[in-house]
Amino acid sequence: MSPQQRKLAEAARGFMPSDEGLALYEAAMQAPEGVSFLEVGSYCGKSSLYLGSAAQQRGVLLFAVDHHRGSEENQPGWQWHEPDLVDPKAGRLDTLPHFRRTIYEAGLEPYVVAVVGDSPTLAAVWGTPLALLFIDGGHGSAPAHADFDSWTPHLMRNGVLAIHDVFANPEDGGRPPYEIYCRAVESGKFKETAAVGSLRVLRKSDL
Ligand code: SAH
Ligand code: MG
Repeated sequence: MSPQQRKLAEAARGFMPSDEGLALYEAAMQAPEGVSFLEVGSYCGKSSLYLGSAAQQRGVLLFAVDHHRGSEENQPGWQWHEPDLVDPKAGRLDTLPHFRRTIYEAGLEPYVVAVVGDSPTLAAVWGTPLALLFIDGGHGSAPAHADFDSWTPHLMRNGVLAIHDVFANPEDGGRPPYEIYCRAVESGKFKETAAVGSLRVLRKSDL
């Protein structure tokens, strides 16, 4: 990661502390060779900078999947709502312009492909194997489990699965990301390789 990209990532708007971002970057640098990375949930592009920088160095693409309308918890009246992200014309959240600017400023446009749409809908027609899958989309029960169910089959052997906002203690945060993390571990198909803050990194170990 270039010093300039690192500085931009540290300053970027979003919900990912820099130590977790760097761990995500390291995980991507260790993903199997040659195929794509995909993140579910890009928001304004903070995590995309860490993954996109690794994609640049590895010579692969990062697909950044987000409908850019915000999760339930980003809507008006919820804890993680940021009013200035509302598009007044649509009367709805729109993080896409912010995401674009973030990626542009870091010089990562050639390596980061925004895919604007609903995550499980896209997963149902997806065809490219993934070397890395980062799940940080909707954190309600249905969206988190749908992301896990629909995307993990696309992960190649030895592929890296990273999950954000994993809180073992319910007092620290919502449960669904922790539940999908547990499902991954209990399936016997994934082994944990790193844990930093609420980020968990696993490797698909089935043959
Ligand atoms: N990874 C980002 C934060 C993502 S916040 C960072 O670290 O900076 C979660 C994002 O998931 C929101 O931008 C929201 O729009 C997106 N999201 C929620 N449900 C989705 C769905 N079903 N399809 C696509 N994107 C979704
Ligand atoms: Mg998150």
